[in-house]
Amino acid sequence: MQHRHGRAGTEALVKPSIHPPAPRCEHLPGRPGWDCLACGRPWPCDPAREALAAEYAGHSPSLAVYLSAQHGQALEDLVAQTGEMPRDLHERFLGWVRAAVPQQRQRPATGMV
Ligand SMILES: [Zn+2]
Repeated sequence: MQHRHGRAGTEALVKPSIHPPAPRCEHLPGRPGWDCLACGRPWPCDPAREALAAEYAGHSPSLAVYLSAQHGQALEDLVAQTGEMPRDLHERFLGWVRAAVPQQRQRPATGMV
């Protein structure tokens, strides 16, 4: 009979607490290329956006903060790979948020030029 010491199972108890709340969705970014792990499209792909919009419904500022962090990581990774500043990366990560997550108070678009 084997005697178990307290060390067993320690690994399972250690959770990465610094990890941001990820959407419960398989469409996650694969680093360092930042293509979706599920469908291979540039992340956030449409299903990922949908999942994020649902996850952060009514909390678009939090979503923007989360995506800004992802955008920063992606920028770092992509610049390190290609040596160039990727175009439209900000738009790709953050451009869709305003449309996808309705603000609680939406002002009429009077500022359009
Ligand atoms: Zn995907």
